[in-house]
Amino acid sequence: MAYITINHNFFKHNLDIFRQHLKTINPQKNIEVAAVLKDNAYGHGLEIMSDLAMKNGIKSVFVKNYNEALKVAHKFDSVTFFYGIAPEKSNNIYSTIHGFDDFAKIEKALGDMRGLGVELKVNVGMNRNGIEMKDLRKHIEVILKNDMRLIGILSHNGYGDEIGDEFHKEFDKFQEVKEQVKKLSKELGFALPRFHSLNSSCTLRTQQCDDDLVRIGIALYGYLTNEITIEAAKKLKPILKLYANRISTKLLDIGERIGYGGVTIMTNKRVVSTYDIGYGDGLYRLNGNKKLLLPNGEEILPRTSMDCFSCYGDTDEICVMEDAGYVAEVFDTVPYEVLTRLSPFITRIIV
Ligand SMILES: *Cc1c(COP(=O)(O)O)cnc(C)c1O
Repeated sequence: MAYITINHNFFKHNLDIFRQHLKTINPQKNIEVAAVLKDNAYGHGLEIMSDLAMKNGIKSVFVKNYNEALKVAHKFDSVTFFYGIAPEKSNNIYSTIHGFDDFAKIEKALGDMRGLGVELKVNVGMNRNGIEMKDLRKHIEVILKNDMRLIGILSHNGYGDEIGDEFHKEFDKFQEVKEQVKKLSKELGFALPRFHSLNSSCTLRTQQCDDDLVRIGIALYGYLTNEITIEAAKKLKPILKLYANRISTKLLDIGERIGYGGVTIMTNKRVVSTYDIGYGDGLYRLNGNKKLLLPNGEEILPRTSMDCFSCYGDTDEICVMEDAGYVAEVFDTVPYEVLTRLSPFITRIIV
């Protein structure tokens, strides 16, 4: 049976890079590293990754939706879900507010909003989600009036990977957001919420940070997709490997063909085996236009099937992927996509 291994030492190694970096750039403040476990922990497996995060002292995590939040809430002090409305109240599961209509939706779902923990997302230039800075007061007033708990103020810097000064513009805009919220907290009399704005690349890129926490996703899994050079990024180690097992082996002659449509045609007499990973498991389908090599250097022979692929050789077990960055390059995408496609039904084990 195909399976995925997660290397716990590499996870700790990646996490330590962030803890160290934050200590270096701001020794006065103990900035918290929160783990982003959305989308089945970037395809690594929510269950196994939340255990690993907990064991490594992570207290706050971020997930995509309430269903993911519910699965891990008992392991952490706080779990924030980015999208959707909570169907019930919970002590340590926090909703993200992206706009004024969210209040009406929450009220409809819950009856009243009292006691609900929320984090307010502010748009600092990516123009994707979140409220506008000028509307901060209006939203905070509704939160206070309805006795909700204002847990955090966040933004998302969309230029962490890119060369140019957009990154700094968004960074500065969040500093303004913080100043405004601090003023409002005095004026309206509420406790300061936590502030956070930086993802993996932004955190490693910046040399100044006085946020309360950083939200680290892709780098904890061992990758960064930055255009600019970030020294620490080179030290990250991918934690996931994907393995497949042999289903069957044949000795094929010159001219014989393999797979759907017989796209691969034998040029020599060789041993060919099939293995139990296919596009249904989340590995991209190969139709013959692109060439993907296994870590052992053998080519995955087109066309691949939903549940299996063929390659030369007959080893019982084969590593299919140890670097999602390589697969991403072949398919003109990012490791995020390669990883999140991995089927949640593949067995995951810690090594
Ligand atoms: C996915 C996500 C992150 C993590 O980003 P990485 O690049 O994986 O570190 C942080 N914040 C928000 C809002 C996200 O959606």
